[in-house]
Amino acid sequence: MRRVALALGVLVLALVVALGVGVATTPSRQPVVAAATENVDAEAMTRHLAEAIRFQTVSAARAEDLNHEALSGLIAWMEVTYPRAHSQLTREVVAGYSLLYTWPGADPSLPPILLMSHMDVVPVENEAEWTHPPFAGVVADGALWGRGAMDDKSGVVGILEAVEGLLAEGFVPQRTVYLSFGHDEETLGEGSLAAAALLRERGVRLSWVLDEGMVITDGIIAGVKAPAALIGVGERGYLSVRIEAADEGGHSSMPPPTTAAGRVARAVARLEADPFPAGLDGPASSLFAWLAPEMRQPLRTVFSNLWLFRPVVISQMTKKPSTNALARTTQAVTMLSGSLQDNVLPQRAWAVVNLRLHPRDTQASALARLAEVIDDPTITLSPYPSGLNGEPSPISRDVGAPGFDTITGAIRALRPDVVVAPGLTVGATDARRFVDIADDVYRFMPLQLTEPERAAIHGTDERVKLDNLALFPAFYRQVIRRGAGS
Ligand SMILES: [Zn+2]
Repeated sequence: MRRVALALGVLVLALVVALGVGVATTPSRQPVVAAATENVDAEAMTRHLAEAIRFQTVSAARAEDLNHEALSGLIAWMEVTYPRAHSQLTREVVAGYSLLYTWPGADPSLPPILLMSHMDVVPVENEAEWTHPPFAGVVADGALWGRGAMDDKSGVVGILEAVEGLLAEGFVPQRTVYLSFGHDEETLGEGSLAAAALLRERGVRLSWVLDEGMVITDGIIAGVKAPAALIGVGERGYLSVRIEAADEGGHSSMPPPTTAAGRVARAVARLEADPFPAGLDGPASSLFAWLAPEMRQPLRTVFSNLWLFRPVVISQMTKKPSTNALARTTQAVTMLSGSLQDNVLPQRAWAVVNLRLHPRDTQASALARLAEVIDDPTITLSPYPSGLNGEPSPISRDVGAPGFDTITGAIRALRPDVVVAPGLTVGATDARRFVDIADDVYRFMPLQLTEPERAAIHGTDERVKLDNLALFPAFYRQVIRRGAGS
């Protein structure tokens, strides 16, 4: 008995020492950079974004349903509003309305960079629920309201304000800077596909790309008191799968014990009961390595000692949809269909499960796992056609890589109160079109969001705080100065 107590005591002591060492050996990874100020016209940023919001460039699943007038209107407005950018940069229109600008660098031997955003917005579901009309660009209560205020006209206007301002100052980039503004990011993504094809065809090799995708989270990450700018170093893949069963059909008065609809339902139930494995490898582990030193106790100890607390952290993460998405490939059954009439046996029944692939999975491995879990030879699985289907992106480099250092340097120079960390973008962005012609691809915009504000992206009452808006042109100016300056 005494021996057991002694052994236990030694174990506890070892644990305490190990934890102490764990904490002591995780110093802050935050880059130390000199403070910088950018002389931006915050009022112009607000006014111009309000004007851009008034063009109802709502995305559509089919190209013929696009609002052509709004897209042409927005493009014409850009020409008038940013005359320097439109006289000193070359602009090419691809895939109808997407724009690719080239700002030639003084030294053509340097690999170029690319800044991205998109001009289309998602539709408005319930206009009556909006505090201010979604396409009016109203300034009220310290914010600019409207569809696209966050996603992603703030990026388009912020980048153009920065370029126009730098041109007015006589700034000349050393390396070439490309700007790519897609017109159908929310649906087909053909604009960025065409822009990427054009650069590929010309043999352009990009040093790095910056697109939307992650933001400055404010009070969203447990234990981190400072606002945290998460730089997306990768994005999940996408795969929709059709789960199908076939039968003879017939009248439902003398049915067999199970029908095609029943077997599809059983397959769905098996999938939901057996989610993809969760883990903390890849971008999740980098994220915590960067954020742990910035956390309050006791979370700092927990996240600095994942060798011990990994199972606890994973189990907590997988309880919340937002963090679950960081830990595993997620699955959502989105479509379901059986017979067309209540007394007719289905000859065919099917469901669609939408997977968002964690970087540790591939389309093929995910499909194989679905078959294994469903475990029913009468069920067929096939990819459901979607323009978004694609493998997870490669993971871009963090500290020491020119793009990552430029982006985090720009943030820390302007906002020393913000901590930075690499992260995984859970949605899909246009940036994925460029992964094969760029050394690194990052996904971040300087939007600062609390949890309730985050819900307004693609939702009701999308808006940006006015004091946050000034950060957009300042951030993109810093990015261009640091990334393409001398
Ligand atoms: Zn977007």
